[in-house]
Amino acid sequence: MALKSWVASANDPNTDFPIQNLPYGVFGHEGQTHIGIAIGGQILDLHACASQRLLTALPEAVVTACSAESLNVFMSLGPESWSALRRCVTELLGDGAVGRHLRGRVEASLVPMSEAAMQLPAQIGDYTDFYASIYHATRVGKLFRPDNPLLPNYKYVPIGYHGRASSIVVSGSDVRRPSGQTKAADKEPVFGPARSLDYELEVGVFVGPGNNLGEIIPIAQAEDHIFGLCLVNDWSARDVQSWEYQPLGPFLAKSFATTISPWIVPLEALRPYRVAAFDRADGDPVPLGYLRSPDLNRGGIDLALEVYLTSQQMRASRLPAMRLSTGNLRDLYWTIDQLLTHHASNGCNLRPGDLLATGTISGPDEGSEGCLLEMKHRAKPITLPSGETRTFLEDGDEVSFRAHTCVEGLPRIGFGECAGRLVEARPANTD
Ligand code: CA
Repeated sequence: MALKSWVASANDPNTDFPIQNLPYGVFGHEGQTHIGIAIGGQILDLHACASQRLLTALPEAVVTACSAESLNVFMSLGPESWSALRRCVTELLGDGAVGRHLRGRVEASLVPMSEAAMQLPAQIGDYTDFYASIYHATRVGKLFRPDNPLLPNYKYVPIGYHGRASSIVVSGSDVRRPSGQTKAADKEPVFGPARSLDYELEVGVFVGPGNNLGEIIPIAQAEDHIFGLCLVNDWSARDVQSWEYQPLGPFLAKSFATTISPWIVPLEALRPYRVAAFDRADGDPVPLGYLRSPDLNRGGIDLALEVYLTSQQMRASRLPAMRLSTGNLRDLYWTIDQLLTHHASNGCNLRPGDLLATGTISGPDEGSEGCLLEMKHRAKPITLPSGETRTFLEDGDEVSFRAHTCVEGLPRIGFGECAGRLVEARPANTD
């Protein structure tokens, strides 16, 4: 039988945060910024745990890292330290002998989620965005090149670009519609509010221990360098993108904002949900040696993904959010190990707290498109429950991503929410 917690809300079958999850985040409460672990509807304050001497069985470096205001130092310590803290917290929060004995002191270190303000979990030095979904790449490619949607490098190279770390915001932050250069066919370019605002459903990978400049990360060791996963919305201005992206790729169409969910789910929590990596079609090239995983049988992760939308009018009418699409992380052509190893394969140094995102995650079928751009092939706009229609996002729209594992007989591990509301563009400069 699955382990239970004495925190009652953690045993609710619908919670994102049972004791088998224990994701890390950073939260503000009563003027302090601390690292916490989500458990049901509560946050275990690790700074308070250290002060209460509940972590004394752990190495000094781990206890010190738990008292910091961001996760970077803890991320740098590596899998043994992560597992040690996870075992300790599992005992503290579990309904076994240790948990029952220490419950009074641990309860004093709990903060209700409703009283906490979630912050970015780490200082993100660098952010890289990939393009790892072949279904996304094919559908988007078809819009531009119907006869030849996938470029010749796609099945050899995990395609990516360097994103902007400074504009990453935590779930719940408003996102301002950007202004930029756009050009309609047969017209001169203009500067003004972007019109074709889109979301991109992605999963983020937080780097743990990095690699020194000039060194690589062998594929067999890739997961020793992965701290955990979160959800990412790589907001995109499609009209800006289509005018600016050649020849160097995405720039201002992407860098105005990227939203991440506040909780980082440890890779260890996802271990029971590992599945075989993407089944490459007959005739697809075998990955080059440095990208060949020793264990492709568990290269993927079975994680269901959902996109929800509410408009201003829907919220005013108290209509529930509309689910726009569903997908699964296992549909990626490249594994997260391959993305990380490829990134470091030229000697580029990754650092603790760096964020890698998968790129838009789409599935093969209608209803699994990870962004609105892909849905354009449906020819008609989406009709919302309010009767409004959408081709792209309007001001006031709120986009929310959710993710959870769903394997019969295993606990449900959720990711919490990655949400952001689009607000109107800054007024035009009229001088
Ligand atoms: Ca993207």
